[in-house]
Amino acid sequence: METPEGEKFRDTIGTIDKEGKRAWVFPKKPVGKLYEYRKIVSYVLLAILVSSPFLKINGNQFLMFNVLERRFNIFGFPFWPQDLHLFVIMMLIGVVFVIFFTVAFGRIFCGWICPQTIFMEMVFRRIEYWIEGDRGKQIRLAKQDWDAEKIKKRVLKWFVFFVVSFLIANVFLAYIIGSDRLLRYIYEGPQDHISNLVSLLIFTGVFYFVFAWFREQVCIIACPYGRLQGVLLDNKSIIVAYDHKRGEREEGRSKFKKNEDREQIGKGDCIDCFQCVHVCPTNIDIRNGTQLECVNCTACIDACDHMMESVDLPKGLIRYASEDNIEKKTKFKFTPRLKGYTAVLVILTGVLVGMLFLRNDVEARILRLPGQLYEHKDNNVISNVYTFKLVNKTSKEIENVRFELLSHNGQIKVVSHDSFTVPEQGLSKGTLFIEINGSALSGDKDRVEIGVYSGDKLIETTTAAFLGPRSYK
Ligand code: SF4
Ligand code: SF4
Repeated sequence: METPEGEKFRDTIGTIDKEGKRAWVFPKKPVGKLYEYRKIVSYVLLAILVSSPFLKINGNQFLMFNVLERRFNIFGFPFWPQDLHLFVIMMLIGVVFVIFFTVAFGRIFCGWICPQTIFMEMVFRRIEYWIEGDRGKQIRLAKQDWDAEKIKKRVLKWFVFFVVSFLIANVFLAYIIGSDRLLRYIYEGPQDHISNLVSLLIFTGVFYFVFAWFREQVCIIACPYGRLQGVLLDNKSIIVAYDHKRGEREEGRSKFKKNEDREQIGKGDCIDCFQCVHVCPTNIDIRNGTQLECVNCTACIDACDHMMESVDLPKGLIRYASEDNIEKKTKFKFTPRLKGYTAVLVILTGVLVGMLFLRNDVEARILRLPGQLYEHKDNNVISNVYTFKLVNKTSKEIENVRFELLSHNGQIKVVSHDSFTVPEQGLSKGTLFIEINGSALSGDKDRVEIGVYSGDKLIETTTAAFLGPRSYK
């Protein structure tokens, strides 16, 4: 089916030309109130992002995602594979939160919070403006032959991009292997940690590729969140929108003419200056309506406000607004869909907080050795053999650890030692025997309760199955 004339822009994306080749985007440097706010938010978030793997709470790294050893720290809380349920709830909360925000405020996350946008627009793009100049100069440089000026500027830019990518890769690695280990590797030198150096160079290469070449295509082509916009947005979502009612009126947009009463003639307030298009980092024309490529960066709001001011028309022709707000002049409403998301969010957060408070610092697992039957010893004593695993989630050693039987009269014998130490953020494994007099058993399979003590302090309880002869029933 033929695409209607006014919708033809939807058949193409701004970063690919008619021949299907990459169309390089040269966005004009944004200037304005929102850009200044975004700079502040971005630098605060960058400071948090860079410092989080180096900050410690109770000796625990503030944020760590050690997927290799399956150890995670979130806000200083260490998570182990045993805490997978908490991790899943946190992820769910994150997803619901992002959906909630998207339904209400469109891609505000992309424009203000996403690390891709922050690094691209506030770090790499600003380096580019600093070395190559603004849009006009960048276009000229791109067309220019490879003379001394172009070589000097491009080599300097690529070198700075590489250094910044290398620094980001180091921070990224600190999130994965932990900052202590990373700093130790740096101190000891790369010769002893070649595999670490190789990972670092691979990450550097990926970041360099993304920010020096792939750029806005991450948001347009690769990011799954960007693809979700079509289903999440509705007419009530607040997005960066062009007020087409005011911008076009009956006669449409047209260039600015001095001493002309546009409203009376029926001309729209859009003076067709293309400033909103020139600042757009995804190379779209917001006047065509909501588009998947728009990351809500607000650069076009600033650009248009500046133009409106200079021709003495009211600001806000491009602004944060919903489709209904523009069409029917309605105000923001807390819709049933938003209420539903809020309720789910509150419930999940409550469950998570409860679970975090109920979570033990020590996790004990005692399991019967598979394939082993009980042993009938002298004096009617029944013995079962078990393996045990103790996980210490704290950043302190747990000393003098021993087991005691809480539910039955009997004893627990740990093979080769009576008490032991569980290292900080580590685990201890071993074998133990539980011995109970047959007369104390109620059947052929009792559930026994075991207390884990550090000195005299009970730090965890767990249960295990205990087999005995049928006749004790
Ligand atoms: S249309 Fe406006 S808000 Fe959207 S990406 Fe372009 S400049 Fe940013
Ligand atoms: S910046 Fe404003 S006035 Fe200029 S083209 Fe864009 S919408 Fe129209």
